[in-house]
Amino acid sequence: MAQCEVCGNDYYLSFEVVTAGNRHVFDCFECAIHKLAPVCSHCGCKIIGHGIEAKETFFCCANCARQSGVSGVEDHIWGKEKETAEELAKQQN
Ligand SMILES: [Zn+2]
Ligand SMILES: [Zn+2]
Repeated sequence: MAQCEVCGNDYYLSFEVVTAGNRHVFDCFECAIHKLAPVCSHCGCKIIGHGIEAKETFFCCANCARQSGVSGVEDHIWGKEKETAEELAKQQN
């Protein structure tokens, strides 16, 4: 049994996370995210996916990074789908 350092719950399924040499104990992922996840510098949400690190700041997505003036980031590398999407857009107009 180990006590969660965020909410204090003493739970038999608690787990440890070691990050940058520091050991943390949590009872659930929500608490782990609350404590450890970086925060998007643009919209303020917790980054629980890969996110984007640029100019020593973190962003949740390419859109947030772009709106904060970071260029050259894309969530999606367009391939054949772009042509298909453009084709569909034309048909709808
Ligand atoms: Zn907890
Ligand atoms: Zn964001």
